[in-house]
Amino acid sequence: MQITLELLQSYARLIVRSGANVRPGQTVLLNIAVEQADFAEMLTEECYKAGAKKVNVEWQSDAISRLHFQYAAQETLAEVLPWEEAKAKQMTVDLPCRIFIASQDPDALAGISPEKLSAVGQSRARVLKPYRNAIDGKHQWTIAAYPSEKWAKKCFPEETTENAVAKLWEAVLKTVRIDGEHDPVAAWQAHTTFISEKAAWLNAQQFRRLRYASANGTDFTVELIPDARWEGAAAVNSQNGASYIPNMPTEEIFTSPLAGSCEGTLVATKPLSWNSQLIENFSITFENGRAVSCRAEKGQELLEKMLVMDECANMLGEVALVPKESPVNRCGFLFYETLFDENACCHVALGAGFKEVLPDGDDLSTAEAQKRGINDSIIHVDFMVGSDDLSIDGIRADGSSAPIFRNGTWA
Ligand code: ZN
Repeated sequence: MQITLELLQSYARLIVRSGANVRPGQTVLLNIAVEQADFAEMLTEECYKAGAKKVNVEWQSDAISRLHFQYAAQETLAEVLPWEEAKAKQMTVDLPCRIFIASQDPDALAGISPEKLSAVGQSRARVLKPYRNAIDGKHQWTIAAYPSEKWAKKCFPEETTENAVAKLWEAVLKTVRIDGEHDPVAAWQAHTTFISEKAAWLNAQQFRRLRYASANGTDFTVELIPDARWEGAAAVNSQNGASYIPNMPTEEIFTSPLAGSCEGTLVATKPLSWNSQLIENFSITFENGRAVSCRAEKGQELLEKMLVMDECANMLGEVALVPKESPVNRCGFLFYETLFDENACCHVALGAGFKEVLPDGDDLSTAEAQKRGINDSIIHVDFMVGSDDLSIDGIRADGSSAPIFRNGTWA
């Protein structure tokens, strides 16, 4: 597929119209890498055409981020300056539409001390999280991808840079349902309707537990929070009722399970890239809701480290259903980018859950949500457990059950 200007324009339009769903009069905050200046220009124009009042751009650079971590002191990087805080605070007033364009080199921060990275992240989050919580559910946002050269080379190391980028583009466009023939906005409407219907079915069933089984050794049961909802694809801004699509692509229907209530073993079916390193052929066994042992053919130490990142890193924050026919899965390679990789097949995430799955979640503090069973941690790491024969059963409070997945797809 030739990546023409026309295709790029239709992608930009899709991100602005279906993804962020920019409404007339809204401010937009666009977060994009300096290498994608041309695409930033296209997106900005699309936002204005959609009626945006003002488009502000926050430029990112992998190379400069890396230099910061290489040369600047941890205390310096950890500090949130008054103007940064003022900016975060202003967002709670403006409630801008936010558009993030992911194009990061998966190895951008390879070799940087994970301790430094997490310490900086943690102390910045301490200051900025209250502002982030204050805009949660009250603004539209979307993340979409733009293949950079380094990212493409990571996915296809054997190819020339040019071919690698072309291959990654082809995959990205396929997963966001752009084929150059059909109207992608209409295709996304059909897709989000399908996902909403499945989520509605799951919510109506009121399952209290899920039971996973696969010939690969997965044998696992997890309890659900009674009033937590299954969500997927589209979200709604509670302030103005505008629906938006947080992730493009998105195939999953997810919820946060009851933290501390799962038993058994999950066998990973895809490699996991964490802190720029791979964990492969691994399984994790849970008792009383916590991971008590893990085995990895590659990356054992890394996996062990992840599970003790903090007190709740060994509990689950997410369970997600993705059928094996997912376009991401059909691409057949690792994207080294969660936006894609988590949409390949069924997965769970260790670490933080999503309080917004609770009916009053947007108004809860993290501590309140935690009391209701939503896990909290500095990590949120998805790993894939979907296989060709995975079966998932839903079990209700009265003990009755219904098949949800058979042979890796909707029953
Ligand atoms: Zn997920």
